[in-house]
Amino acid sequence: MIIKDKEFGEVIVRKSPLSKNIKFSISTSGRLQMSVPKYTSEFLAKRFLNSNRAMIREKLPVRNPNEQRARDYQKKQLMKKAKEYLPYRLEYYAKRYSYKYEKCRLTHANTRWGSCSSNKTISLNIGLMKVPETLRDYVILHELAHLNHMDHSRAFWAEVASHDKNYKMHEKKLKMFNPGL
Ligand SMILES: [Zn+2]
Repeated sequence: MIIKDKEFGEVIVRKSPLSKNIKFSISTSGRLQMSVPKYTSEFLAKRFLNSNRAMIREKLPVRNPNEQRARDYQKKQLMKKAKEYLPYRLEYYAKRYSYKYEKCRLTHANTRWGSCSSNKTISLNIGLMKVPETLRDYVILHELAHLNHMDHSRAFWAEVASHDKNYKMHEKKLKMFNPGL
């Protein structure tokens, strides 16, 4: 459920069967998010929001509604670009270096550029569309190498190096960018 609030814009209300009390957090778009017990009514959620306004203002970095919408738009554009590019680039390198993965997933997490799960799903952050191609490729090669090594062992880095001899520099440069939007 979404509550439209004059001060905080759209407030996301998530009903959780597990939560016993109401908790506030910030969504990846910078919106205020409330997790509430399953049977909480909209009336009650609003009342709780009102009685916590001062605390929220002080403690949580809620983006203003205009910025929230701008971020939605940016994400949509980036997702569109990413869809037309990242799965193909991944496929290209997988073929070139004979890797087999199950699935490519596009994410927009705030903290990581990519990941590789034990069921061979490779996740790539759509924020990669904002970084230079060499760094984008490095992330793809890094995740592909995880198909053979699920850790950051010497053997893993040796494999990355065999595809990208400048990987150390690329890893360093990547730190200048933020995966979040
Ligand atoms: Zn890694």
